[in-house]
Amino acid sequence: MISTVEALYNRTAIGLAHQMKCNYPAFNGNTLDLEKHILKSLAEKENFDDFITYIKNPRRQTEAFIRAEVKKYIFTDHKDEAVIILNKNVHDINTTVSQALFTATQKVQTQSGYTDTWLKEFFSALNDNLTLDPICSQNFSDIKDFDFLRRETEKGFASIIEQMRSISLDKMQESRLKPDEILVDQLCKHCWVKCPFCSAICTNTIEDHKDDDHSVPFHRPNGIQGWHYKGTVELCITFCTTNVSSDLKFYPYHNSEKSIPYKEYRNGGPEYKTWRITPDGSKLSYWKWFVCRFQNKLEKHYNRKFQGRGEIPDDWKTISKEEAIQSLDEMGFSDV
Ligand SMILES: [Zn+2]
Ligand SMILES: [Zn+2]
Ligand SMILES: [Zn+2]
Repeated sequence: MISTVEALYNRTAIGLAHQMKCNYPAFNGNTLDLEKHILKSLAEKENFDDFITYIKNPRRQTEAFIRAEVKKYIFTDHKDEAVIILNKNVHDINTTVSQALFTATQKVQTQSGYTDTWLKEFFSALNDNLTLDPICSQNFSDIKDFDFLRRETEKGFASIIEQMRSISLDKMQESRLKPDEILVDQLCKHCWVKCPFCSAICTNTIEDHKDDDHSVPFHRPNGIQGWHYKGTVELCITFCTTNVSSDLKFYPYHNSEKSIPYKEYRNGGPEYKTWRITPDGSKLSYWKWFVCRFQNKLEKHYNRKFQGRGEIPDDWKTISKEEAIQSLDEMGFSDV
């Protein structure tokens, strides 16, 4: 049993989460669609640290994005609708409780009038696990006085009405179920394994998929994850898709002594073995723009340079932020 006010906030949280899952563009599509909205927002904000968090710990950045969007939706952009949902739930719960009081009392009066009958009727009329706070903490079997019980219940009901007056969307953030947490749970339930070369997140919708390899439709230039030519400061500018079709070799771990041909990348170790990286696949302008826009910061972050074999191609440098964001449409949907 939970208290009425808590039930109210829970119901409202579930209602708001459901509304956003159905209507909000970032949340109503698939994993790739959510990722597209996150990348768009990262580009708009141009905050390097957020990019790095997204590359190193995509789940953390994804959760932060969901929480921020929910907050904006409920407390700014759609505040009126959120208040309507909350008020409707207040009304529904008040109706349920007062009807339960009435029904139970009527039944007991027309039947035998025992306390336990009344309680049974009352709680069965309160359909979904609601209870009155003052009553539920007492031991029912000790109560022999039916009038006393009814008075207490009515007092409890009055106190609920009183509490309902002070409900607010802000207080919902203190309740057990929160709309942002509900959405984080729903939207983050998928595979989070990162491509060992570029950190792109596997797009499989099953958390622990064993039968299929990890895969992703769009890889990134490997230097954004710190890949560099061994013993040099040269960061790697090529995409995984290009590397796996080349005759180049790589050292699977920083302390590896033996290099592996990219064409046989699966032999690199357990985290390489389970990835399917195919030579085709388009190279999003987005990541080319990212490397150019944050070249200095990436170089400082990894203490290496995009030079020599890691020189940035000239045609990448002309890509505008708008073109970068537009290229995200190649990821599937077109509502960015
Ligand atoms: Zn990759
Ligand atoms: Zn996977
Ligand atoms: Zn090294």
